[in-house]
Amino acid sequence: MGMTQNQDVIVIGGGASGLMAAGRAAELGARVLLLEKMPRLGLKLGLTGKGRGNLTNQGDIQTFIQSYAPDGKFLRNCFARFFSQDLMAFFETLGVPLTVERGQRVFPVSDRALDLVSALLRYGQQGGVRIAKEHPVEKIEMEDGAVKGVRSHGRFFESQAVVLATGGASYPQTGSTGDGYRLARSLGHTIIPVRPYLIPLVTGEDWVPGLQGLSLKNVRATLYFKGVKDQSEFGEMIFTHYGLSGPIILTLSGRAVDGLPKGKVEVSLNLKPALTAEQIDLRLRREFQENPLKGAGSVLKNLLPSRMVPVFLLRADVPADKKSNQITSGERTRIKNLLSDFRLTIQGHRPLDEAIVTAGGISLREVDPRTLESKKIKNLFLCGEVLDIQGRTGGFNLQAAFSTGWVAGSQAAQGIRA
Ligand SMILES: Cc1cc2nc3c(=O)[nH]c(=O)nc-3n(C[C@H](O)[C@H](O)[C@H](O)COP(=O)(O)OP(=O)(O)OC[C@H]3O[C@@H](n4cnc5c(N)ncnc54)[C@H](O)[C@@H]3O)c2cc1C
Repeated sequence: MGMTQNQDVIVIGGGASGLMAAGRAAELGARVLLLEKMPRLGLKLGLTGKGRGNLTNQGDIQTFIQSYAPDGKFLRNCFARFFSQDLMAFFETLGVPLTVERGQRVFPVSDRALDLVSALLRYGQQGGVRIAKEHPVEKIEMEDGAVKGVRSHGRFFESQAVVLATGGASYPQTGSTGDGYRLARSLGHTIIPVRPYLIPLVTGEDWVPGLQGLSLKNVRATLYFKGVKDQSEFGEMIFTHYGLSGPIILTLSGRAVDGLPKGKVEVSLNLKPALTAEQIDLRLRREFQENPLKGAGSVLKNLLPSRMVPVFLLRADVPADKKSNQITSGERTRIKNLLSDFRLTIQGHRPLDEAIVTAGGISLREVDPRTLESKKIKNLFLCGEVLDIQGRTGGFNLQAAFSTGWVAGSQAAQGIRA
């Protein structure tokens, strides 16, 4: 097929960012070869948003930059060239109508993430991108500080530019096994230690498995490191057989993972975040007064999901059958305090394999934020999750992959004509 001969651009990895980079470089006239290690492209993209593909967010640029704290600034240049509106227009032009949901999250109207994959494949086809599946890249070859091609199955594939888009190191069954970190390191790049980001947390309390499947809405979860208050998030979470998951827990998880080696980590749940301590107290007094002969357990069901009540009262040290009119002010205080500060000990996190996103990766200091070219190796471009960029949930990670893919593809093609 002549794939080993000279092409302008080789893209390593056919995920969100690699498909975008390949299609974009081809659109600009480059002869592009995409090498993908798996038998199929876009496997992870097909899983995103529970299979529904939350591809971006309608938040403003500030919201975006903050969503990748502390390194969001790096993406400013890429977003200036290709941002959420551009991405939405891109997919709609390729025949994927989109819709905006709660939290400004953007999805295909079809609810099918796979439609995003098909659209990207069409985009590549239009520009004549050649695709070699089951071609894991083992090595990037260089000469005089510039790339000259890659090696796969021991064969040499020559090109003038290489785009590294191998993704992170989670969900290895999708092909993201961290190869890009090794490839970049072997070329002299610094790899910021790779950790799970957006990962469920493992708790120490033995009653947690009993609450498996219980989800709490409109609660506030706050991280504590060695007893000191840290990040806090409002929204939805869920108890699992090992601990805690759900949107607000995932959002806190990056910091929790980094805090764990340093000492005690706790999550405090405020189960009534809309009420002040006084309002909770008034509410409790009223509930107990209005139901003097009911047990504490049945009264608390007016304030909490019923599955949570037994554990809650055990922790408050109040017998569930104690009549409302016999509850002491001390007991009421304990209930009040527990409603706003229900603590769990974080013992660990689920393994990297299960992370939605990998934190760490190629150090941003070694990448030109305008062109995404390596500062160490000429004509090597880096995009997507292989970079040390990680965002919160809500479409931010895919937008970063697409924006950096678009810029890397544009620049790789540009170098050819210069
Ligand atoms: C379950 C799940 C749900 C998610 N949901 C969302 C969501 O709704 N919204 C959102 O914004 N983000 C979501 N994400 C995160 C998002 O999917 C990633 O951030 C994004 O896919 C990263 O794109 P990428 O192109 O950098 O890497 P990937 O999409 O991982 O693609 C990397 C590609 O490179 C290939 N590859 C790896 N090594 C080699 C090699 N040596 N040679 C050749 N090919 C190689 C892989 O096989 C893969 O195809 C989710 C992630 C997961 C796991």
